[in-house]
Amino acid sequence: MSSAACIFCKIIKGDIPSLKLFESDKVFAFLDIQPLSRGHALVIPKFHGAKLTDIPDEDLVEILPVAKKIAQATGAVDFNILQNNGRIAHQVVDHVHFHMIPKPNEKEGMTIGWPNQ
Ligand code: 5GP
Repeated sequence: MSSAACIFCKIIKGDIPSLKLFESDKVFAFLDIQPLSRGHALVIPKFHGAKLTDIPDEDLVEILPVAKKIAQATGAVDFNILQNNGRIAHQVVDHVHFHMIPKPNEKEGMTIGWPNQ
């Protein structure tokens, strides 16, 4: 299920370009266009729903393993996983998304290396 007006559904379809990191039948992951840190990624269900409570469990359970894979593959050591629901909680895009936000390592600087970021 997708929504014609949804920006993240358009990214999944390839109608809006993104820097894709991962894709399966249920999950899509890409770099955030306004990264809070180098390597800031978004992991989303392909199923369109605005809030966590709108997403079927069988789609949700595939999200965190992908966030974990991205953290491992990029060598992110310290990072936040964040998921906002509703305007008061700072949600801007109404398609469920999990932020994977690497934190700089104070001693070594960023521990990951995305090209051109
Ligand atoms: P929210 O505040 O809803 O949790 O976060 C939405 C995130 O989506 C923001 O970090 C924002 O930078 C990102 N975003 C919004 N539009 C686009 C887009 O067109 N492409 C990409 N890659 N990220 C986007």
